[in-house]
Amino acid sequence: MAVYLANATFIDWKTLEFKKGVTIKVEEGPAGGISFVDKAPAGGADTVLDCGGKYVTKSFVCGHHHVYSALARGMNTVKKAPTNFLEVLQYVWWSLDKCLDDASVEASALVTAAACAKNGVTFCIDHHASPFAIPGSLEILAKAFDKVGVGHLLCYEITDRDGMDKAQAGLDETARFLASGRQGLVGLHASFTVGDETLKKAVDLARQTKSGIHVHVAEGTIDQEDSQQKYGMRVIERYKKAGVLDFSRTILGHCLHLDANERAILKDSPVWLVQNAESNMNNNVGAFDWTGLGPNLMFGTDGMHSDMIRSAKAAFFKNQEKGGTSYDEFYRRFRNASNYLSSNGFAGDGENNLVVLNYDPPTDFAQYNVVGHILFGLDSSNVESVVSRGRLIVKDRVLQTVDEKEINALAREQADRLWDRMRKA
Ligand SMILES: [Zn+2]
Repeated sequence: MAVYLANATFIDWKTLEFKKGVTIKVEEGPAGGISFVDKAPAGGADTVLDCGGKYVTKSFVCGHHHVYSALARGMNTVKKAPTNFLEVLQYVWWSLDKCLDDASVEASALVTAAACAKNGVTFCIDHHASPFAIPGSLEILAKAFDKVGVGHLLCYEITDRDGMDKAQAGLDETARFLASGRQGLVGLHASFTVGDETLKKAVDLARQTKSGIHVHVAEGTIDQEDSQQKYGMRVIERYKKAGVLDFSRTILGHCLHLDANERAILKDSPVWLVQNAESNMNNNVGAFDWTGLGPNLMFGTDGMHSDMIRSAKAAFFKNQEKGGTSYDEFYRRFRNASNYLSSNGFAGDGENNLVVLNYDPPTDFAQYNVVGHILFGLDSSNVESVVSRGRLIVKDRVLQTVDEKEINALAREQADRLWDRMRKA
Protein backbone atom coordinates (compact mmCIF):
# COMPACT_ATOMS: atom_id res chain seq x y z
CA MET A 1 0.00 0.00 0.00
CA ALA A 2 1.20 3.47 -0.84
CA VAL A 3 -0.03 7.06 -0.86
CA TYR A 4 0.16 8.93 -4.16
CA LEU A 5 0.31 12.71 -4.00
CA ALA A 6 -0.68 13.69 -7.52
CA ASN A 7 -0.22 17.06 -9.23
CA ALA A 8 2.04 18.37 -6.43
CA THR A 9 4.68 21.09 -6.28
CA PHE A 10 7.40 19.30 -4.37
CA ILE A 11 9.86 21.31 -2.27
CA ASP A 12 12.98 19.27 -1.44
CA TRP A 13 13.54 19.94 2.28
CA LYS A 14 17.32 19.75 1.93
CA THR A 15 17.96 21.79 -1.24
CA LEU A 16 14.67 23.76 -1.26
CA GLU A 17 14.44 22.97 -4.97
CA PHE A 18 10.89 23.13 -6.42
CA LYS A 19 9.55 20.38 -8.70
CA LYS A 20 6.24 21.35 -10.28
CA GLY A 21 3.46 19.07 -11.51
CA VAL A 22 4.88 15.88 -10.04
CA THR A 23 3.20 12.76 -8.70
CA ILE A 24 4.89 11.40 -5.59
CA LYS A 25 4.62 7.77 -4.59
CA VAL A 26 5.00 7.53 -0.81
CA GLU A 27 5.79 4.05 0.51
CA GLU A 28 4.32 2.94 3.82
CA GLY A 29 6.37 1.80 6.82
CA PRO A 30 9.17 3.02 9.07
CA ALA A 31 11.75 2.57 6.29
CA GLY A 32 9.55 3.65 3.36
CA GLY A 33 10.82 6.18 0.84
CA ILE A 34 9.38 8.37 -1.88
CA SER A 35 9.73 8.33 -5.65
CA PHE A 36 8.42 10.38 -8.53
CA VAL A 37 6.14 8.47 -10.87
CA ASP A 38 4.39 9.32 -14.14
CA LYS A 39 0.91 8.67 -12.90
CA ALA A 40 -1.04 7.56 -9.82
CA PRO A 41 -2.79 4.20 -10.23
CA ALA A 42 -6.53 4.28 -10.84
CA GLY A 43 -8.50 2.26 -8.29
CA GLY A 44 -6.90 -0.38 -6.09
CA ALA A 45 -5.97 -0.26 -2.44
CA ASP A 46 -3.60 2.70 -2.68
CA THR A 47 -4.59 6.17 -1.48
CA VAL A 48 -4.48 8.87 -4.13
CA LEU A 49 -4.67 12.54 -3.19
CA ASP A 50 -4.88 15.16 -5.91
CA CYS A 51 -2.86 18.09 -4.58
CA GLY A 52 -4.09 20.49 -7.26
CA GLY A 53 -0.63 22.04 -7.58
CA LYS A 54 -0.27 22.61 -3.81
CA TYR A 55 3.14 22.50 -2.13
CA VAL A 56 4.43 19.26 -0.63
CA THR A 57 7.50 19.07 1.58
CA LYS A 58 8.96 17.09 4.48
CA SER A 59 6.89 17.31 7.68
CA PHE A 60 8.28 18.55 10.99
CA VAL A 61 9.84 17.15 14.19
CA CYS A 62 9.44 18.51 17.72
CA GLY A 63 12.80 18.30 19.53
CA HIS A 64 11.42 18.64 23.07
CA HIS A 65 7.81 18.26 24.21
CA HIS A 66 5.84 17.43 27.37
CA VAL A 67 2.69 15.35 26.90
CA TYR A 68 2.02 15.79 30.63
CA SER A 69 1.17 19.48 30.16
CA ALA A 70 -1.65 18.89 27.65
CA LEU A 71 -4.52 19.21 30.13
CA ALA A 72 -3.13 22.38 31.76
CA ARG A 73 -4.69 24.71 29.23
CA GLY A 74 -6.86 27.25 31.07
CA MET A 75 -6.62 25.52 34.44
CA ASN A 76 -7.60 27.59 37.47
CA THR A 77 -6.21 25.31 40.14
CA VAL A 78 -2.93 27.05 40.94
CA LYS A 79 -2.95 27.84 44.65
CA LYS A 80 -0.26 30.54 44.61
CA ALA A 81 0.91 32.67 41.71
CA PRO A 82 4.54 31.71 41.06
CA THR A 83 7.13 34.46 41.45
CA ASN A 84 10.18 32.58 40.18
CA PHE A 85 11.15 29.48 38.17
CA LEU A 86 11.19 27.09 41.13
CA GLU A 87 7.70 28.24 42.11
CA VAL A 88 6.51 27.70 38.51
CA LEU A 89 7.58 24.08 38.93
CA GLN A 90 6.22 23.74 42.47
CA TYR A 91 2.86 25.45 42.04
CA VAL A 92 2.10 24.56 38.43
CA TRP A 93 3.88 21.56 36.91
CA TRP A 94 4.73 19.44 39.94
CA SER A 95 1.26 19.87 41.40
CA LEU A 96 -0.21 18.87 38.02
CA ASP A 97 1.99 15.88 37.26
CA LYS A 98 1.50 14.41 40.77
CA CYS A 99 -2.24 14.20 40.06
CA LEU A 100 -1.93 12.43 36.70
CA ASP A 101 -3.23 8.88 36.52
CA ASP A 102 -3.20 6.37 33.65
CA ALA A 103 -6.43 7.70 32.12
CA SER A 104 -5.34 11.34 32.17
CA VAL A 105 -1.89 10.39 30.83
CA GLU A 106 -3.59 8.59 27.94
CA ALA A 107 -5.89 11.55 27.22
CA SER A 108 -2.90 13.93 27.37
CA ALA A 109 -0.99 11.78 24.90
CA LEU A 110 -3.91 11.44 22.48
CA VAL A 111 -4.59 15.19 22.29
CA THR A 112 -0.87 15.94 21.99
CA ALA A 113 -0.43 13.43 19.17
CA ALA A 114 -3.55 14.78 17.44
CA ALA A 115 -2.29 18.36 17.73
CA CYS A 116 1.12 17.32 16.39
CA ALA A 117 -0.50 15.61 13.41
CA LYS A 118 -2.70 18.58 12.53
CA ASN A 119 0.31 20.91 12.70
CA GLY A 120 2.32 18.68 10.36
CA VAL A 121 4.55 17.40 13.17
CA THR A 122 4.92 13.70 12.39
CA PHE A 123 7.58 12.96 15.01
CA CYS A 124 7.64 14.00 18.66
CA ILE A 125 10.54 13.77 21.13
CA ASP A 126 8.81 13.79 24.51
CA HIS A 127 9.95 14.12 28.14
CA HIS A 128 7.26 12.64 30.38
CA ALA A 129 6.44 12.85 34.11
CA SER A 130 3.60 11.31 36.11
CA PRO A 131 5.11 10.51 39.55
CA PHE A 132 2.05 8.65 40.84
CA ALA A 133 1.45 6.74 37.59
CA ILE A 134 4.95 5.73 36.51
CA PRO A 135 4.75 2.00 35.62
CA GLY A 136 3.54 1.55 32.06
CA SER A 137 3.26 5.30 31.39
CA LEU A 138 5.69 5.26 28.45
CA GLU A 139 3.79 2.44 26.76
CA ILE A 140 0.54 4.42 27.23
CA LEU A 141 2.19 7.35 25.44
CA ALA A 142 3.63 5.13 22.70
CA LYS A 143 0.26 3.47 22.01
CA ALA A 144 -1.49 6.86 21.82
CA PHE A 145 1.08 8.24 19.37
CA ASP A 146 0.87 5.01 17.34
CA LYS A 147 -2.92 5.27 17.26
CA VAL A 148 -2.81 8.78 15.81
CA GLY A 149 0.13 7.83 13.57
CA VAL A 150 2.82 10.15 14.93
CA GLY A 151 6.39 8.87 15.40
CA HIS A 152 7.96 9.18 18.84
CA LEU A 153 11.10 9.11 20.92
CA LEU A 154 9.98 8.97 24.53
CA CYS A 155 11.56 9.05 27.97
CA TYR A 156 10.48 9.22 31.59
CA GLU A 157 11.68 12.23 33.59
CA ILE A 158 13.63 10.45 36.36
CA THR A 159 14.12 12.56 39.49
CA ASP A 160 14.78 12.37 43.24
CA ARG A 161 12.29 15.16 43.95
CA ASP A 162 9.61 12.74 45.22
CA GLY A 163 12.03 10.41 47.00
CA MET A 164 14.38 7.61 46.00
CA ASP A 165 11.59 5.07 45.48
CA LYS A 166 10.12 7.24 42.74
CA ALA A 167 13.57 7.74 41.23
CA GLN A 168 13.99 3.97 41.07
CA ALA A 169 10.49 3.57 39.63
CA GLY A 170 11.45 6.01 36.85
CA LEU A 171 14.62 4.02 36.12
CA ASP A 172 12.65 0.76 36.14
CA GLU A 173 10.00 2.17 33.78
CA THR A 174 12.72 3.34 31.39
CA ALA A 175 14.54 0.00 31.49
CA ARG A 176 11.29 -1.91 30.90
CA PHE A 177 10.27 0.33 27.99
CA LEU A 178 13.66 0.09 26.26
CA ALA A 179 13.80 -3.69 26.82
CA SER A 180 10.41 -4.04 25.13
CA GLY A 181 12.01 -3.03 21.84
CA ARG A 182 10.68 0.52 21.79
CA GLN A 183 13.16 3.25 20.88
CA GLY A 184 13.59 5.84 23.61
CA LEU A 185 15.93 7.83 25.79
CA VAL A 186 16.81 7.86 29.49
CA GLY A 187 15.11 10.97 30.85
CA LEU A 188 16.26 13.02 33.81
CA HIS A 189 14.44 16.06 35.16
CA ALA A 190 17.33 18.44 35.86
CA SER A 191 20.60 18.46 37.79
CA PHE A 192 19.05 20.14 40.84
CA THR A 193 16.59 17.28 41.43
CA VAL A 194 18.93 14.40 40.52
CA GLY A 195 21.56 13.28 43.03
CA ASP A 196 24.75 11.44 42.14
CA GLU A 197 23.35 7.96 42.81
CA THR A 198 20.43 8.40 40.41
CA LEU A 199 22.62 10.19 37.87
CA LYS A 200 25.04 7.26 37.82
CA LYS A 201 22.24 4.71 37.43
CA ALA A 202 20.73 6.71 34.55
CA VAL A 203 24.04 7.02 32.71
CA ASP A 204 24.70 3.29 33.25
CA LEU A 205 21.28 2.48 31.81
CA ALA A 206 21.88 4.76 28.80
CA ARG A 207 25.22 3.02 28.21
CA GLN A 208 23.77 -0.49 28.56
CA THR A 209 20.89 0.27 26.20
CA LYS A 210 23.04 2.27 23.73
CA SER A 211 20.67 5.18 24.27
CA GLY A 212 21.27 8.70 25.52
CA ILE A 213 20.10 11.11 28.21
CA HIS A 214 17.30 13.66 27.74
CA VAL A 215 17.51 16.32 30.45
CA HIS A 216 16.78 19.98 31.20
CA VAL A 217 19.99 21.98 31.67
CA ALA A 218 20.35 25.36 33.35
CA GLU A 219 16.79 26.38 32.57
CA GLY A 220 16.87 28.48 35.72
CA THR A 221 19.87 29.82 37.63
CA ILE A 222 18.84 27.46 40.46
CA ASP A 223 20.29 24.55 38.45
CA GLN A 224 23.76 26.14 38.48
CA GLU A 225 23.55 27.37 42.09
CA ASP A 226 22.54 23.92 43.31
CA SER A 227 25.29 22.16 41.37
CA GLN A 228 27.99 24.51 42.60
CA GLN A 229 26.77 24.26 46.18
CA LYS A 230 26.35 20.45 46.28
CA TYR A 231 29.05 19.25 43.88
CA GLY A 232 31.49 22.17 43.64
CA MET A 233 31.13 22.37 39.88
CA ARG A 234 28.79 23.69 37.24
CA VAL A 235 26.06 21.57 35.63
CA ILE A 236 27.87 20.83 32.36
CA GLU A 237 31.06 19.97 34.28
CA ARG A 238 29.02 17.61 36.46
CA TYR A 239 27.42 15.99 33.41
CA LYS A 240 30.75 15.62 31.64
CA LYS A 241 32.21 13.89 34.67
CA ALA A 242 29.18 11.59 34.94
CA GLY A 243 29.28 10.59 31.26
CA VAL A 244 26.02 12.30 30.16
CA LEU A 245 27.89 14.07 27.35
CA ASP A 246 29.42 10.86 25.93
CA PHE A 247 26.32 9.98 23.92
CA SER A 248 25.42 11.45 20.52
CA ARG A 249 21.81 10.62 21.41
CA THR A 250 21.86 12.92 24.46
CA ILE A 251 19.48 15.90 24.30
CA LEU A 252 19.98 18.89 26.60
CA GLY A 253 16.96 21.15 26.92
CA HIS A 254 17.33 24.94 27.31
CA CYS A 255 21.03 25.48 28.33
CA LEU A 256 20.32 29.10 29.20
CA HIS A 257 22.90 29.81 31.91
CA LEU A 258 26.27 28.54 30.71
CA ASP A 259 29.75 29.96 31.23
CA ALA A 260 32.56 29.93 28.66
CA ASN A 261 34.05 26.67 29.94
CA GLU A 262 30.71 24.90 29.70
CA ARG A 263 30.27 26.18 26.14
CA ALA A 264 33.72 24.85 25.23
CA ILE A 265 32.88 21.45 26.75
CA LEU A 266 29.61 21.28 24.78
CA LYS A 267 31.32 22.30 21.55
CA ASP A 268 33.59 19.26 21.90
CA SER A 269 30.71 16.91 22.79
CA PRO A 270 28.47 14.96 20.37
CA VAL A 271 25.30 15.98 22.26
CA TRP A 272 22.34 18.04 20.97
CA LEU A 273 20.78 21.18 22.45
CA VAL A 274 17.13 22.26 22.15
CA GLN A 275 15.95 25.84 22.25
CA ASN A 276 12.38 26.44 23.52
CA ALA A 277 11.98 30.17 23.01
CA GLU A 278 8.32 30.67 23.94
CA SER A 279 8.61 28.61 27.11
CA ASN A 280 11.72 30.56 28.16
CA MET A 281 9.89 33.85 27.60
CA ASN A 282 6.82 32.59 29.46
CA ASN A 283 8.86 31.50 32.47
CA ASN A 284 11.06 34.61 32.32
CA VAL A 285 14.16 32.46 32.80
CA GLY A 286 16.48 34.11 30.30
CA ALA A 287 17.34 33.79 26.62
CA PHE A 288 19.26 31.13 24.71
CA ASP A 289 22.72 32.25 23.57
CA TRP A 290 24.48 30.02 21.03
CA THR A 291 27.86 31.78 21.33
CA GLY A 292 30.68 29.23 21.33
CA LEU A 293 28.38 26.22 20.99
CA GLY A 294 28.63 23.64 18.22
CA PRO A 295 26.20 23.06 15.33
CA ASN A 296 23.91 20.53 17.09
CA LEU A 297 21.10 22.98 17.86
CA MET A 298 17.39 22.32 17.31
CA PHE A 299 13.98 23.64 18.39
CA GLY A 300 11.23 22.31 20.66
CA THR A 301 7.92 23.45 22.11
CA ASP A 302 8.57 22.45 25.76
CA GLY A 303 4.91 21.47 26.08
CA MET A 304 3.59 24.96 25.27
CA HIS A 305 1.83 23.59 22.15
CA SER A 306 2.56 21.19 19.28
CA ASP A 307 3.27 23.65 16.47
CA MET A 308 6.85 23.57 15.23
CA ILE A 309 6.46 26.31 12.61
CA ARG A 310 5.35 28.60 15.46
CA SER A 311 8.19 27.47 17.76
CA ALA A 312 10.81 27.96 15.07
CA LYS A 313 9.58 31.45 14.22
CA ALA A 314 9.54 32.42 17.91
CA ALA A 315 13.14 31.24 18.25
CA PHE A 316 14.21 33.25 15.19
CA PHE A 317 12.60 36.45 16.46
CA LYS A 318 13.86 35.97 20.04
CA ASN A 319 17.36 35.31 18.68
CA GLN A 320 17.32 38.69 16.93
CA GLU A 321 17.89 40.16 20.41
CA LYS A 322 21.18 38.24 20.60
CA GLY A 323 22.45 39.37 17.23
CA GLY A 324 20.27 37.10 15.14
CA THR A 325 20.97 34.20 12.82
CA SER A 326 21.06 34.03 9.03
CA TYR A 327 18.06 32.56 7.24
CA ASP A 328 20.17 29.52 6.29
CA GLU A 329 21.20 28.94 9.89
CA PHE A 330 17.59 29.36 11.09
CA TYR A 331 16.38 26.78 8.55
CA ARG A 332 19.19 24.41 9.51
CA ARG A 333 18.13 24.55 13.19
CA PHE A 334 14.45 24.20 12.23
CA ARG A 335 15.24 20.96 10.38
CA ASN A 336 17.99 19.76 12.71
CA ALA A 337 15.68 17.54 14.79
CA SER A 338 15.39 15.35 11.68
CA ASN A 339 19.19 15.29 11.43
CA TYR A 340 19.40 14.33 15.12
CA LEU A 341 17.06 11.37 14.48
CA SER A 342 18.69 10.14 11.28
CA SER A 343 22.30 10.53 12.45
CA ASN A 344 21.46 8.55 15.59
CA GLY A 345 19.67 5.76 13.74
CA PHE A 346 16.16 6.37 15.10
CA ALA A 347 13.29 5.09 12.94
CA GLY A 348 10.14 6.88 11.85
CA ASP A 349 11.30 10.17 10.36
CA GLY A 350 12.17 9.12 6.82
CA GLU A 351 11.35 10.82 3.54
CA ASN A 352 7.84 9.29 3.61
CA ASN A 353 6.75 11.95 6.12
CA LEU A 354 5.22 14.86 4.24
CA VAL A 355 2.89 17.83 4.54
CA VAL A 356 0.63 19.24 1.85
CA LEU A 357 0.55 23.02 2.23
CA ASN A 358 -2.40 25.03 0.98
CA TYR A 359 -0.50 28.28 0.54
CA ASP A 360 -1.39 31.00 -1.92
CA PRO A 361 1.22 33.74 -1.36
CA PRO A 362 0.88 37.31 -2.59
CA THR A 363 4.54 37.32 -3.71
CA ASP A 364 6.83 35.01 -5.66
CA PHE A 365 7.53 31.73 -3.83
CA ALA A 366 10.53 29.77 -5.10
CA GLN A 367 13.77 28.09 -4.07
CA TYR A 368 15.54 31.38 -3.31
CA ASN A 369 13.03 32.67 -0.73
CA VAL A 370 11.44 29.68 1.04
CA VAL A 371 12.79 30.76 4.44
CA GLY A 372 11.38 34.26 4.07
CA HIS A 373 7.97 32.69 3.45
CA ILE A 374 8.31 30.40 6.49
CA LEU A 375 9.17 33.36 8.71
CA PHE A 376 6.65 35.89 7.42
CA GLY A 377 3.91 33.95 5.66
CA LEU A 378 3.45 30.26 6.24
CA ASP A 379 1.91 28.95 9.43
CA SER A 380 0.36 25.70 10.53
CA SER A 381 -3.07 26.74 9.24
CA ASN A 382 -1.55 26.12 5.80
CA VAL A 383 -1.01 22.44 6.71
CA GLU A 384 -3.88 20.82 4.84
CA SER A 385 -2.92 17.15 4.67
CA VAL A 386 -0.24 15.08 6.38
CA VAL A 387 1.42 11.81 5.43
CA SER A 388 3.21 10.05 8.27
CA ARG A 389 5.37 7.02 7.49
CA GLY A 390 3.44 6.63 4.25
CA ARG A 391 -0.04 6.85 5.80
CA LEU A 392 -2.42 9.71 5.17
CA ILE A 393 -3.15 10.74 8.78
CA VAL A 394 -4.65 14.18 8.08
CA LYS A 395 -6.75 14.92 4.99
CA ASP A 396 -8.14 18.40 4.34
CA ARG A 397 -7.39 19.29 7.99
CA VAL A 398 -9.36 16.30 9.31
CA LEU A 399 -7.62 13.54 11.26
CA GLN A 400 -8.05 10.21 9.49
CA THR A 401 -6.81 7.85 12.21
CA VAL A 402 -8.86 9.00 15.20
CA ASP A 403 -12.03 10.99 15.86
CA GLU A 404 -10.77 14.38 17.00
CA LYS A 405 -14.09 15.40 18.59
CA GLU A 406 -14.16 12.19 20.60
CA ILE A 407 -10.56 12.67 21.77
CA ASN A 408 -11.21 16.25 22.87
CA ALA A 409 -14.38 15.24 24.73
CA LEU A 410 -12.44 12.50 26.51
CA ALA A 411 -9.65 14.96 27.34
CA ARG A 412 -12.09 17.54 28.79
CA GLU A 413 -13.57 14.85 31.00
CA GLN A 414 -10.09 13.85 32.18
CA ALA A 415 -9.06 17.49 32.64
CA ASP A 416 -12.08 18.10 34.91
CA ARG A 417 -11.13 15.10 37.02
CA LEU A 418 -7.47 16.11 37.08
CA TRP A 419 -8.21 19.73 38.10
CA ASP A 420 -10.53 18.42 40.81
CA ARG A 421 -7.75 16.24 42.24
CA MET A 422 -5.38 19.21 42.10
CA ARG A 423 -7.79 21.40 44.06
CA LYS A 424 -8.13 18.73 46.74
CA ALA A 425 -4.38 17.98 46.95
ZN1 LIG B 1 11.02 20.77 29.10
